[in-house]
Formats: sequence, structure tokens, C-alpha cells
Amino acid sequence: QLSLRLSRAASYVEPGDHLADIGSDHAYLPCALASKEKVAFAIAGEIVEGPFQAAQNQVKRLGLTEKISVRLGDGLEVISPEDEITAITICGMGGLLIAAILDSGLKKGHLTGKERLILQPNIGEKTLREWLVAHCYTVTAEELIEENDKIYELMVAVKDPSKKPTATATQLTFGFHLKDENSAIFKKKWQKELEKNQRILDSLTKSSTDQTAKSIQFQAEIQEIEGVLK
Ligand code: SAM
Repeated sequence: QLSLRLSRAASYVEPGDHLADIGSDHAYLPCALASKEKVAFAIAGEIVEGPFQAAQNQVKRLGLTEKISVRLGDGLEVISPEDEITAITICGMGGLLIAAILDSGLKKGHLTGKERLILQPNIGEKTLREWLVAHCYTVTAEELIEENDKIYELMVAVKDPSKKPTATATQLTFGFHLKDENSAIFKKKWQKELEKNQRILDSLTKSSTDQTAKSIQFQAEIQEIEGVLK
């Protein structure tokens, strides 16, 4: 049984996809999809030996070795052209790390731009959106998922080299689709963030050293969030 977070990511994988799940840990995501025949082929990529072994054991235990190739390596380096990957999932990492994995994959020719990217950053969503927009990706779907008292973001992106997507500062921070929905979960996420920023601003104001520049930055962030929550 997949967590809600991973099952929402899995819902964007299409029947017949060749999937690369990067940072797969126990390979739960590719195993769930392969056992339901939702993917034709999957790679479970891992950089750390322990999770790589765990992924191998899980795939063997479920009898999925013909469908899932477990590979040890850094980011998208585990992908070869003959894998004909059509979808890449990178979940449960910071947005900065996800962007670095995509960037290195692009530079080394492992990311062709034809793959659908299904990304679930735990933090640093803005950094990831910035990378996607700068590299001609359009964010086609976004979701907020609440699980175990945490709110996660999920985004799906596809590349159209003929289009140069643009984004406003508000879209980069709050998302392309999430702000307009202004759902209860969106409000909850940003209310929490607002309270966090207010606590930091309070402690900066009380601090004896001069923190004016930082205070101004937090004040601006608070105002931006207040504006969106109105
Ligand atoms: N994707 C799973 C999920 O969302 O539940 C596991 C997330 S776990 C927090 C992150 C995993 O990514 C770890 O197992 C870690 O070893 C792996 N990882 C981190 N950097 C990586 C990289 N550059 N290439 C491949 N795997 C990486």
C-alpha cells in the first residue's frame, strides 16, 4: 500500500510508460505500478548502497525483476537511451537537490526533454519552479497533499522547446495552479508559513545585533503571503 503522497505521484504515470524513479529507496513506487501492470518497464535508481539493497530485495520479493531494473548511481546517470524513458519521478527530496539532479542529467545528456517529470519536493518548491521555467518546462499540474501532519507539493512538468514559459514572482512562490484554487489546504500551508515568518521576525526584532536587512526580507515575505491569503 503506497502512502497518499506516493500514490498521488503514481497517478500521473500513464499506462505503458517507461518510468525512471530516482531516489527510489525501497522502490515502493515502481513496485506498486509494475504489479498493477501500469508501467511497461521501470528503473529504480539509488545513490546509497543501503536503499539500493532494500530496493533490490523488494523487487525480488515481489517477483518483479523482469520489469524493474534496480540501479546504483547518481541521479539520472542510471538512465541509458535504450531504456526509452517516458516519465521520471523524483519524490521526497528538497527542491534544490531535485533541480541539481535534473540540471546534471541535462548537461550529461540523460534528460532528453521528452520525459514527463513528476516531482515531489519536500521544501524548496520555488527553486525547482525557477529551474523548470528557465529550461522551457511548463508545469501542467500541481497538487498539495496532506499526510502525517505535513503538507507536500507535487508538480508535473513537460518540455516544449518551441515555447518559452514565463512566470511571475507570485507564481514561482505559490505555484501556477494552486493559488487560483485557494483551497483549504493551500490556506493551511501558507497560514503555517506566515506564522513561521512572523515568529522569525519577532525574534529578529528582539535581537541585540542589527538585523534590519533580514527583517525587511521577512516583512516582505509576510506581506506577500498576506496578499495571497486575502
Ligand atoms: N522517493 C522515495 C519517497 O519519496 O518516499 C524516497 C525518498 S528518500 C527521503 C530520498 C532518497 O533519495 C534516499 O534514499 C537517497 O539515498 C536518494 N538520493 C539522494 N540523492 C540522490 C541522487 N543524487 N541520486 C539518486 N538517489 C538519491
